[in-house]
Amino acid sequence: MAEFDVDLFVIGGGSGGVRAARIAAGHGARVMIAEEYRMGGTCVIRGCVPKKLLVYASHIHHDIEDAAGFGWSIASATFDWPTLIANKDKEIARLEAAYTANVEKSGARIVKARAVFENPNTLRLATGEAVRAKYVLIATGGAPNHGFAIPGIEHVISSNEAFHLSVLPKRIVIQGGGYIALEFACIFAGFGSDVTLIYRGDNILRGFDDDVRAHVRSEMEKEGIAILTGCTVNRVDKHGEEFTSHLSNGASVASDQVMFAIGRHPNVAGLGLEKAGVAINPGNGGIAVDGFSRTSVPNIYAIGDVTHRTNLTPVAIREGHAFADTVFGKRPVQVDHAEIPTAVFSQPEVGTVGLTEAQARAHFSHVDIYKSSFRPMKATMSGRDTRMLMKLVVDALTDRVVGCHIVGDGAAEMVQLVAIAIKMKATKADFDATMALHPTAAEELVTMRTPTARHVRQAAE
Ligand SMILES: Cc1cc2nc3c(=O)[nH]c(=O)nc-3n(C[C@H](O)[C@H](O)[C@H](O)COP(=O)(O)OP(=O)(O)OC[C@H]3O[C@@H](n4cnc5c(N)ncnc54)[C@H](O)[C@@H]3O)c2cc1C
Repeated sequence: MAEFDVDLFVIGGGSGGVRAARIAAGHGARVMIAEEYRMGGTCVIRGCVPKKLLVYASHIHHDIEDAAGFGWSIASATFDWPTLIANKDKEIARLEAAYTANVEKSGARIVKARAVFENPNTLRLATGEAVRAKYVLIATGGAPNHGFAIPGIEHVISSNEAFHLSVLPKRIVIQGGGYIALEFACIFAGFGSDVTLIYRGDNILRGFDDDVRAHVRSEMEKEGIAILTGCTVNRVDKHGEEFTSHLSNGASVASDQVMFAIGRHPNVAGLGLEKAGVAINPGNGGIAVDGFSRTSVPNIYAIGDVTHRTNLTPVAIREGHAFADTVFGKRPVQVDHAEIPTAVFSQPEVGTVGLTEAQARAHFSHVDIYKSSFRPMKATMSGRDTRMLMKLVVDALTDRVVGCHIVGDGAAEMVQLVAIAIKMKATKADFDATMALHPTAAEELVTMRTPTARHVRQAAE
């Protein structure tokens, strides 16, 4: 009898786990992958993909409004939420089937069951079966936080449920100031819902550049979203189909749904980590790993959101690929977590890469800022009251562009490309030497000639 049933057992069929399973199988490993819910994981089933589909759908509201300035009259456009949700579900089912087929094609075996550790080399499936594995990859992702158990928390939904509401709420209260809260606030506002966003901090999008935070907030407020900062939801009462959210500042807000998007935690509960001896990172509550995603136990690795490093799909995929190449491809690879571009699909959207102004000032003694806020060409005819923001952060001693922040239509697409230049250590002179492409919004990135701010830190006496 062979010592191990498989060379690799992957726990979790999400972005990272699927990539690792496929690549390891391609390297000749005998692979089993367990998924307790649906293949594809958070990103495909209840994250990036369905979210972006809803963003597209809600943005059409803007397009219809903007059409009039260009001579189009669109008589009584109507929107049907159940049709959107049904079509979205069909697309997600198609993707889930594609993920399943690709894993099977690679030679890895899928088991549709929860898996937990019995010891460092043995997994127990919910079916009762025990599987002995030479290596184990933990790729169990994350889950929404519900925060404190406030009275009425049972009435509160998370992003998971928001994707499956049977009725579009006429009024919704969303607690949170991060990207998921903002994206859903803008999605519902686009469909005509009355949206109140509640955030405990002084401004939304903590961790983003301060100009981005202020700009997005003012644009969302122009769209009619009420943003209440410096307070929290302390209690939720239900009366029939309605809810009242009682806030820490004494105010209350009535709505048809209450959603919390106040962060996510790594999925480590009940995994049997203690039986395997896998250590948790006390700094972030995720599984502790080294640069190769190896845990405290030599044959066990962890990747993606469960490590709580950078919780993004492309990062989980890279980490899964790097793990498979390192362990089964005889090619040790460490993932570079620097300068990861990221987006917020709010309306207007945000694209950002590299350092914020505040971070750059903490890192470098001389920092130049190039900033421009302007009315996009389309808005001149549509009459929409909106402005774009473009900002470059430059280390003035080396002339390197160390940060780029954009708010406005196409921001995410632009920043994906700017991220290549930044990764290649492009200087401001390289940006200036690049010919503008006219007429675009992106040309602003290569035509901002004069710094709008210069910061020089005096050497300590
Ligand atoms: C609303 C929302 C929007 C998002 N938008 C974006 C975006 O625009 N861009 C972006 O890059 N990222 C986005 N993300 C984040 C992205 O979805 C995650 O970073 C990514 O899915 C992480 O992949 P993963 O493989 O680590 O985990 P997941 O994709 O979460 O996969 C983990 C899988 O493991 C399964 N599982 C857990 N425990 C077990 C067990 N014991 N046994 C068997 N199976 C188990 C789960 O069911 C799940 O399918 C979004 C997330 C959310 C919630």
